[in-house]
Amino acid sequence: MPMRCKRCRGKVVIEVRRHNAAFCRDCFVHYVRQQVSRAIAKHRMLAPTDRVLVAVSGGKDSLGLWDLLLDLGYQADGLYLGLGIGGYSDRSKDLSQAFADARGAKLVVHDLESEQGYTIPEAAGAGRLKRASPGGRSSCAVCGLSKRYLFNRVALEGGYDVVATGHNLDDEAAVLFANTLRWDTASMARQFPVLEATRPGLVKKVKPLYRVAERESAAYCVLKGIDYVVEECPLVGGNTQMRHKETLNQMEEASPGTKHNFLFGYVDRAAALLRAADVAELAECSRCGMVTQAPDDPAEAPVCAFCRTRARLVGEASSGGRTLPVVSGRAGP
Ligand code: AMP
Ligand code: ZN
Repeated sequence: MPMRCKRCRGKVVIEVRRHNAAFCRDCFVHYVRQQVSRAIAKHRMLAPTDRVLVAVSGGKDSLGLWDLLLDLGYQADGLYLGLGIGGYSDRSKDLSQAFADARGAKLVVHDLESEQGYTIPEAAGAGRLKRASPGGRSSCAVCGLSKRYLFNRVALEGGYDVVATGHNLDDEAAVLFANTLRWDTASMARQFPVLEATRPGLVKKVKPLYRVAERESAAYCVLKGIDYVVEECPLVGGNTQMRHKETLNQMEEASPGTKHNFLFGYVDRAAALLRAADVAELAECSRCGMVTQAPDDPAEAPVCAFCRTRARLVGEASSGGRTLPVVSGRAGP
């Protein structure tokens, strides 16, 4: 490891090989903040007056992101979604709340089980039984779908301008790798670090940590004294994304900068070429009113993936409707 901080020549606490740099504590915090500011400015992610809703899982990335946005002066509330994953969810919620209390920030809390009638472990059980049936999804897919839907819905109902998530460089490189292996060009177009609200019912989505690697975000939290959930979700064990991360880490080991170049090449050059691939025609879900993909058959009533999945898990009768709010709007202290 180089002996001196690249910026101030002070004592090094961390090396960032892909930038051929090493930093002392203060300069590393400065470096991470600069990467986030650069992402925000380059893609016009946030305006100074925006009301930002940061989706926080209690992990290093999202709590680190919330801390960074507050330090940068943004009006940022947190949103924690209780997914019902036993002690893991309890600890995640407690650490998110503890962070909010320590920073005097507002945490909005929603709960899948009490508000939607299912938990992710239940969806995992149903997934095992119904994997082969039409519409059956794995628990990670149900979790991702539930989060995307509820982030948008809670932000819309709470009058927020933008939803920020803690996806870091490693997350984004792994997702891009998976999408590339399938040449899933529509998903590649939609994973861009900023997605504008292109029609009413959609809230802008941003990923201000896409330039920060996983180990850098962990180091940031440790250096800033942010207590986060270290354990992985007990349901992800060996999932595809984790395997892709391992593969990319092996390539990174042999050639530092691989992940960075792969992801930044997409953001800076390929994404513009892929934009035309996201051609989904949109419509309003006939059950919940949220934006969804229009069905191929124009005679068919549009039903969003969230309403379809929820109906499969808790039954058609309780699948909601315009008069029964899907989200009850319970805010934390
Ligand atoms: P994941 O889908 O677990 O990789 O998480 C991606 C991002 O989604 C995190 O960085 C958070 O911003 C957000 N997120 C994950 N889990 C939750 C949760 N339970 N509540 C709120 N936001 C979450
Ligand atoms: Zn719906």
